[in-house]
Amino acid sequence: MTLFDTTRRRHSRRVLAAALVVFLLIGLTLGVLVGLHALGARGLSGDALPGALQGQDSAAFGVDDGYIEEGESVSPFADELPAIARLEPGLRAAMQDAARAAIAEDVEFVVTNGWRSAAYQKVLLDAAIAEYGSEEEARRFVSTPETSKHVTGEAVDIGRTDANSWLSQHGSDYGLCQTYANEMWHFELATTPGGECPAQLSDASAG
Ligand SMILES: [Zn+2]
Repeated sequence: MTLFDTTRRRHSRRVLAAALVVFLLIGLTLGVLVGLHALGARGLSGDALPGALQGQDSAAFGVDDGYIEEGESVSPFADELPAIARLEPGLRAAMQDAARAAIAEDVEFVVTNGWRSAAYQKVLLDAAIAEYGSEEEARRFVSTPETSKHVTGEAVDIGRTDANSWLSQHGSDYGLCQTYANEMWHFELATTPGGECPAQLSDASAG
């Protein structure tokens, strides 16, 4: 063994040790991030984000129900997700056309709720009833599985605020209308492209 070999071996051992430290740090960071994510992922999101959903067994729901985590969003082009794929085709096409135009103007455009299963809608309504104390009050914010336009694939909730503002100005060019006065994020295909949107209902219970 030459001196050169020994030096090189020491050097590579030092590199190995440094790499190990880096890996440990990455692992630690990922662990913390996953932990934080798990904390933030508790509960389900509805139009009104009822806090009573916290503690619900969200594992019973998945992407097949159109479930999108509270505070999370998906791309309007995520056709691989049932939340997008099971939207009524006309609405989905209009929403994607509008999203392309908005994004071209540097507007962030995401979907916070799309199609939902009836079972998922029922969980949202039950949680809202627990939150607001009565079905009458809850229904101002969350529709029943029988009446929800999300369950039929005829409604999408759009974020962020800039996209809501953009849609309030340009949505009707694509036939997209805000249908409830108390939900500036909730859009339905409610007119012909370039047509006039119908008068807004005060809230979901008014429909
Ligand atoms: Zn909605």
